[in-house]
Amino acid sequence: MAHVITDTCKKDNLCLDACPSEAIRPLKDEANWESVPQLYINPDDCMDCGACVVECPTNSIYPSDELPASKAQFAEINAKYFKK
Ligand code: SF4
Repeated sequence: MAHVITDTCKKDNLCLDACPSEAIRPLKDEANWESVPQLYINPDDCMDCGACVVECPTNSIYPSDELPASKAQFAEINAKYFKK
């Protein structure tokens, strides 16, 4: 299991700074940061600590097994970002 960022993400980067496993990308100095609509969590690196959830001001992050049905597609969208 992993945590998942959904489309209400505003890219404030607070989650990224809180993540102990560097699972959230892109970083602000990466070339594609401006163009991506949101941040993403790498399911292979996430250790499900939940530190990102409490930092998110828009409540955009969920454990994958607690995603609302309307946001279920974001588990794959997060994983897909890291398969590029
Ligand atoms: S749950 Fe923990 S390890 Fe996973 S993305 Fe959030 S802060 Fe990082």
